[in-house]
Amino acid sequence: MLYRSNQWCQLLRQFLNRVNDIMAGNEKTIFSLILSGNIPSHKIYEDESVYAFLDINPLSRGHTLVVPKEESPTMDSLSEKAAASLGQVLPKICRAIMKITGANDYNIIQNNGENAGQTVPHLHFHIIPKYPESNHSFIWEPKPIDHSDATELSKAILQELE
Ligand code: AMP
Repeated sequence: MLYRSNQWCQLLRQFLNRVNDIMAGNEKTIFSLILSGNIPSHKIYEDESVYAFLDINPLSRGHTLVVPKEESPTMDSLSEKAAASLGQVLPKICRAIMKITGANDYNIIQNNGENAGQTVPHLHFHIIPKYPESNHSFIWEPKPIDHSDATELSKAILQELE
């Protein structure tokens, strides 16, 4: 009986911790659980600040996710140090995926925010091999630029970045 009530206490504590985490915005994403080894993954690369693994629902064979170990939801909140580490290994990971899969072409996609298609709020790059027979597509509907808006926009962003 005592054993059972201890189990209930433990479950209740876990539940309350989870509620606290959610309320405090500390809820771990599935990628944090992969990084901590609590969820398995098909790892293809790891160093002290970057982890890469195969996507569980690949668009094509070799579809890989490259993730900084730093917990940042989107690119704009990533530290420069983590960004540098990520950028440094991306070409090497792409080369290995292309060599092993035999693909010559690939897309790198990186979604930021729900409206942009991000489903896991832990920054990640998708590396997606494109084979001659691949039929996956990314829908773009480009329109000609509005030069008067572009003049204003480029000036404002340039100033922001100075
Ligand atoms: P995004 O929609 O850009 O946030 O991409 C999230 C990606 O994570 C999707 O392509 C999912 O298939 C992938 N994904 C979600 N859970 C897992 C998992 N446990 N292991 C591997 N990939 C995952």
